[in-house]
Amino acid sequence: MRRASCLNNLPPYLFARIDEKKAALTEKGIDVISLGIGDPDTPTPDFVVEAMQRAIRDPKNHQYPDYAGSLHYREAVATYMNNRFGVSIDPKTEALALIGSKEGLAHLHTAFVDPGEYVLAPSICYPVYSGGAVLNNANTYFMPTNAANHFLADFDHIPEDVLKKAKIMFLGYPNNPTGAVAPVEYFDKAIDFCIKHDILLCHDNAYCDICFDDYVAPSILQRPRAKECCIEFFSLSKSFNMTGWRIAFAVGNAQAIKALGTVKNNMDSGQFTATQEAAAVALTSDLSFCRSISKLYQKRRDLVLSTLADLGISLTPSKASIYIWAPVPAGETSESFATKVLERAHVIITPGNGYGPDGEGFFRMSLTTPDDRLVEALDRMKSLL
Ligand SMILES: *Cc1c(COP(=O)(O)O)cnc(C)c1O
Repeated sequence: MRRASCLNNLPPYLFARIDEKKAALTEKGIDVISLGIGDPDTPTPDFVVEAMQRAIRDPKNHQYPDYAGSLHYREAVATYMNNRFGVSIDPKTEALALIGSKEGLAHLHTAFVDPGEYVLAPSICYPVYSGGAVLNNANTYFMPTNAANHFLADFDHIPEDVLKKAKIMFLGYPNNPTGAVAPVEYFDKAIDFCIKHDILLCHDNAYCDICFDDYVAPSILQRPRAKECCIEFFSLSKSFNMTGWRIAFAVGNAQAIKALGTVKNNMDSGQFTATQEAAAVALTSDLSFCRSISKLYQKRRDLVLSTLADLGISLTPSKASIYIWAPVPAGETSESFATKVLERAHVIITPGNGYGPDGEGFFRMSLTTPDDRLVEALDRMKSLL
């Protein structure tokens, strides 16, 4: 059997080595605390679970779903976009249901990128942006992203030959893994750039409802001319503690929505309509649930930052997301530090180099661990360092 050669070009799975080591420690009866993956530790809100209970009893939800998502779900998406951002969306042409936004992001490459062409991705980013390119035999140009540019990907210095073959620019603020947020002027500049070079601008807004202090994350679609070149991805995973449900949506430029829908029509048959019904209830709620979990993560953020400060790592508090992104201590690499913390403190942190070339020298901690376990993990790291 001869598998596709593009599979050989995927980078080694970020968590593979860590998982092996974790398994070895757990087997020995050692209590390992994970601050690795970003997966909310508190449950989906009751009002959403109850909506699901009602929807699952309705036989009309038991058949194949509508490919693009039920019109009811897409109308709820439009209501959310209007209430939350003041953005008007035509539910029939400018919205598409997704089986999680990872699915949509990965399929976007198939809709837009031919073999040998390019996608533009931040040099520290969600691995799907470049992984999708690899699976379509396309290339990724990594836009420099670092502390000096406040982790706002630099698209001012892309070589002409790359630009000619570039089809999608991926951005995502509030950002995973850096926690960075973008000023609206940055979005405006990206929109101008993408219109000028005929590039689809894909904005991944998975953390827009997890905001701290007085910050409220925008939608890129609020900006002038955005609908000419932008598709924006939203997910209920983090906003409503629904990672296991696999429900999200894309909105924006109608041509882009149609192209992504065409790929999906040939790949999947949509998300369970009952899940869409429950998600519609979440999206049309008053969003007070999102504010309450944001408060929880904000408290944990402050706890982690004060511990890191005690260890000599002082950081500017992030305005959003569920992550702390920090430089490793002097003399360590991302990998050596993550390994040391796992082997000696029995705490899993994520090495920054797994997020792209400029992630080396950093580590990521996620805030999705119950308070007492987070405190315990921080105590262990303190005594290690
Ligand atoms: C968690 C996350 C998503 C959401 O993924 P789902 O597939 O909707 O669960 C999308 N983008 C980024 C950057 C994320 O961290």
